[in-house]
Amino acid sequence: MAIKFKKKCARCRKNFVLTTSRDRYPLCYECEKSELDQEIEDPEMKKLFDIPEEFYRKNSFLRDIKRNYLRFENLTDKQIAAFKKTVERMKKEQG
Ligand SMILES: [Zn+2]
Repeated sequence: MAIKFKKKCARCRKNFVLTTSRDRYPLCYECEKSELDQEIEDPEMKKLFDIPEEFYRKNSFLRDIKRNYLRFENLTDKQIAAFKKTVERMKKEQG
């Protein structure tokens, strides 16, 4: 595991983000949320990303996957499977 430390958000430079040294462009949740709040055209993908907002807030992996998709409009089967698995796990944890 990489060491985590607090850094100022690269966009608003106001909020602090818990990040790693590998992340050169850390975004706070508020900034990331506006980035993730985009319309998805592909119905299958739309369904995949249609999960409670709370899940995105709690899990940076889910945010990364969605951000990747919005940026490149493409995900590998492995990424999709990992996304689904994480969502399933979080649903179970929630009860
Ligand atoms: Zn920010």
